[in-house]
Amino acid sequence: MRVMFIVLVTMLILFYLRSRKKKPAVLQPVIAPDHMHTMLEAHVAFYRKLDQESQGRFRSRVQHFLDTTRISPVDGVTVTELDRLYVASSAIIPIFHFDDWAYNNLDEVLLYPGTFSQDLDHEAAERNVLGMVGDGAMHRMMILSQPALRSGFEQSGAGNTGIHEFVHLLDKADGATDGVPEYMIPKDLVAPWMRQMHRTIQQIREGESDINPYAGTNEAEFFAVLSEYFFQKPQFLKEHHPELYAILDKVYHR
Ligand SMILES: [Zn+2]
Repeated sequence: MRVMFIVLVTMLILFYLRSRKKKPAVLQPVIAPDHMHTMLEAHVAFYRKLDQESQGRFRSRVQHFLDTTRISPVDGVTVTELDRLYVASSAIIPIFHFDDWAYNNLDEVLLYPGTFSQDLDHEAAERNVLGMVGDGAMHRMMILSQPALRSGFEQSGAGNTGIHEFVHLLDKADGATDGVPEYMIPKDLVAPWMRQMHRTIQQIREGESDINPYAGTNEAEFFAVLSEYFFQKPQFLKEHHPELYAILDKVYHR
């Protein structure tokens, strides 16, 4: 009887801890599928290229992301429905071919009115940061500049700040933000990827590359910037950097 009691209490405690750890639902209005389709079709190129069945899957992934992640305005920003769809699309595009993946390391995305500095003061003199994955007190948070988020989808350039930051989260999932996403990259491609990565970083630093010099900062930035190219300008990457393209194609299970 006493053993039963102890077992029961233990089970209750475990159940309590488990339920506490679960991400709370985020109460925001559900976006009707037809309306979401119209919005995504008009504003998200990645979605436009999917077939009908895949578009349905994309929409339900987007809705699930919005149901489980808060998107909050900072300092006078108004978060529009389209902003929420941009954030969710940035999240889902890199993991779209991983059916059961979700961002368990993220609770909230903050939208800032403009760029901000490393210490999060967006009125400081040096305001050059477009997005950031939080650490320490900002753990489980992401910060995005609202204009940068929008322009990633509204201009047809190689850059996409939203995708860039979500790729950092994927990189971080194995504990180290080091340009090697261990849960995604096939084991036998780790060495070739690192070789290609270091060779290309060297070329960037020597000014002999057509890749955004920011990718030369370190391995994590290299992986994030190259992933932006991969999703925004796949043809460019395929033609100019076929080896990098081939590896990323396998990393993202396309
Ligand atoms: Zn970055």
